[in-house]
Amino acid sequence: MAGLSDIEWTDATWNPISGCRILSPGCTNCYAMRMAARLQAMGHAAYADTTRKSGGRWVWTGTLHLNEEALSVPLGWRAPRRIFVNSMSDLFQDGVPDAFVRRVWDVMQEAHWHVFQVLTKRPENMARVVAGLPCLPNVWLGTSVENRDYTVRISTLRKIPAAVRFVSFEPLLGPVGKVNLRGIHWAIVGGESGPRARLVREEWIGEIQTQCAASGTAFFFKQWGGRNKKAAGRSLRGQNMGRDADALGLARRTMLEFTGIRMLPLPWRLRRTCLESAPSVSLTGTAGVSPANYSSDKGRRDAGGPGWLEAALKSVPRVRSRGGSRL
Ligand code: SF4
Repeated sequence: MAGLSDIEWTDATWNPISGCRILSPGCTNCYAMRMAARLQAMGHAAYADTTRKSGGRWVWTGTLHLNEEALSVPLGWRAPRRIFVNSMSDLFQDGVPDAFVRRVWDVMQEAHWHVFQVLTKRPENMARVVAGLPCLPNVWLGTSVENRDYTVRISTLRKIPAAVRFVSFEPLLGPVGKVNLRGIHWAIVGGESGPRARLVREEWIGEIQTQCAASGTAFFFKQWGGRNKKAAGRSLRGQNMGRDADALGLARRTMLEFTGIRMLPLPWRLRRTCLESAPSVSLTGTAGVSPANYSSDKGRRDAGGPGWLEAALKSVPRVRSRGGSRL
């Protein structure tokens, strides 16, 4: 399954693998598990035997498919997109051969005009596998945290070299308490949605928002969730957090927004150095970008400093184009 997505923080999904296993409470009502059951019932080969009925609900069987034919899909998308990698699975689950992850990396490297958002609940596996792979400027690495019992995943993620590190606090199932967000560039927060949705409390969201503000981490409130997530909306403390109102406008502002203005993916032609555990990110002009656009003041930000990425992105010029993408 690959294509345009309604998920507020991405543009498209790409699933080179399918099938997964439940790992922690955030998986209990996994949307992908329900969707995989539907696709399996429709005879979609990539989802064959991935789910079975148990206690009146569909659950993963543990069957995993490596979808060779899906590997090249992003290369066929000429317009730059933010792409959520394996929205229906977890690339770093046990059983995915390192060699296959390497092939996913090869595609992401070749499709340099896209931003790839790789999210896992298994950052320890991600750390091990990624250690043998190049750190790509267009690949963002993230982990999911549902409550305070899983904040250790953030510590693991922080040590992984990446252009952008993000944490998805969704579904948020409890307070996370005090968290160290140093080196974390972006946080997504959302309540659970779907027929068995568990409630989220405003104070849990608020404590994350406050800590994001203190650490300079961009905050994106995705949804309240619930059985009818559209009705629940996305207003937080009286502020409408619509699709285009996320704290940075992150990649949307930089990669694509086809409402008459076609932006060239200039930020991703910048070279970002990927540093180890105490991250700072340097942005250096390369071909097609005048280094004059990036004074040392604008172009070099400490990743832990407030608003560094937002400031860097604001400094990137927008370019109007009537023709197709040059990519
Ligand atoms: S890791 Fe993700 S895809 Fe896998 S069961 Fe958990 S929520 Fe679902």
